[in-house]
Amino acid sequence: MEKSANQYDVIVVGTGPGGGMVARDLTQQGKKVLIVERGDYQPTRGTIAQMVSRGWVPVSQMPLTTQVKPVVRGVTTGGTTMLYTATAHEPPYEILEKYGIDIRDEIAELRAELPIAPIRDELMSPAAELFMKSARELGYDCNKLDKFIYQDKCLRDCDSCIKGCPNDAKWNSRYLVDEALLNGATMINHAKVKRVITEGDRAIGVEYKRGVKNVSVYANLVVIAAGGIGSPMILRNSGLSGVGENICMDPILVVFGQVKGLGGSGRAVPMMTGFHLKEEGIMFADLHIPKVLKQFFDVHALNLGKVGQFEDVIPIMVKIRDDLSGKILNGGLLKKDISPSDKAKFNKGEGIAKDILKQAGALKTYTSQIVAAHPGASVKIGEHVDGNLKTRFDGLYICDCSVYPESLGLPPSLMLLGLGKRLAKHLAAINGKVDNSRLLETVG
Ligand SMILES: Cc1cc2nc3c(=O)[nH]c(=O)nc-3n(C[C@H](O)[C@H](O)[C@H](O)COP(=O)(O)OP(=O)(O)OC[C@H]3O[C@@H](n4cnc5c(N)ncnc54)[C@H](O)[C@@H]3O)c2cc1C
Repeated sequence: MEKSANQYDVIVVGTGPGGGMVARDLTQQGKKVLIVERGDYQPTRGTIAQMVSRGWVPVSQMPLTTQVKPVVRGVTTGGTTMLYTATAHEPPYEILEKYGIDIRDEIAELRAELPIAPIRDELMSPAAELFMKSARELGYDCNKLDKFIYQDKCLRDCDSCIKGCPNDAKWNSRYLVDEALLNGATMINHAKVKRVITEGDRAIGVEYKRGVKNVSVYANLVVIAAGGIGSPMILRNSGLSGVGENICMDPILVVFGQVKGLGGSGRAVPMMTGFHLKEEGIMFADLHIPKVLKQFFDVHALNLGKVGQFEDVIPIMVKIRDDLSGKILNGGLLKKDISPSDKAKFNKGEGIAKDILKQAGALKTYTSQIVAAHPGASVKIGEHVDGNLKTRFDGLYICDCSVYPESLGLPPSLMLLGLGKRLAKHLAAINGKVDNSRLLETVG
């Protein structure tokens, strides 16, 4: 195919918070944007079947690891935000500042634009209330967390966040894609990008597979935002070596405790309250999950006697800032060894969660297996991309959770949106010209 027949200003691959934000903001600048997305664009039904098809299908969507099972990622328009629990955590700015990156202005712009706020009292569940009260009684600074939720549309006694919210109450990056399309962007769905097309030191397009056809599309700039697993796989196929090694996963476990007479339906927005022990690298939050998912956790951890417990259970999530001990194997399978330091963090976190549950009146507690939802640090700032998120190829940028220079141990979406906004400003400023930043010059 003629290169000129498919010429765009920018190709954006993937529509999670990183890709969605770059695409939307560039269309606002009048850029001609092509979005290439592996997943579908079906309306959200809020069913378990759709949740499973979007993110919980081994091997293509839910990579299996040796010690962390499973690692979930969303493959659909909107990426993993279609499955996320919509917590908007302030980014750990100091991690980015080491590389000369400051996204404070972008985060302020996002806070003004998006529905970010703590949950209203009338949506709180008895379990979250009691978790917060008990944690405070033990001296922890537990508070309501900011959520990306249109709260006037959010329902009490609803468990749709993780399944996918059919009421449009949960903000997700599909909102950004919809806006980009209204602004004139083109999106191709069911298109799995295989590699970046390069000419000398410059990226000039991507090659994707749709059905049985391989298609090449061309642009002045290419932004890969296929997530912490997808992006390094595309880059490996494109001649960038060393990516996908020493990755993090922000693994979690859930400690459950039954409190007789707790009240409530057991169904509510997950992660309404929580606290972060920064020095220890451990985050805690209430974690309401759909009943069938709780049953999966129980069977998975061989807590078979607990499968019937639900309404009067307090689930506490323990998330750790893990060592960079993960790796993407050929074919996309993941390997993650829980290091001795990870294990020590989990032991400490599990102990604290049990103390909180005891304080809340739970007689017995039980713990899930380790799972993970934030694979990242697979194409690191400072190693594989510079402070402008540019690779060693001119015109080729990465914008998703693969660029973290280290593990966060925190919900990353607000930070990714901030990075996307910053990248869109940078790309609009260079206006398709060669960006002369070089890895070693701009990395601090
Ligand atoms: C159950 C769950 C709960 C979570 N809760 C929270 C939370 O409360 N707060 C928070 O901040 N974060 C949360 N997260 C994490 C958050 O959703 C992700 O970290 C975030 O969406 C990652 O953004 P991303 O842009 O890196 O990638 P993704 O959102 O994963 O997007 C990647 C995109 O690339 C597409 N893609 C992949 N490969 C290709 C390819 N080869 N070609 C074309 N397209 C491709 C995918 O379909 C997808 O659209 C949660 C995650 C899960 C699973």
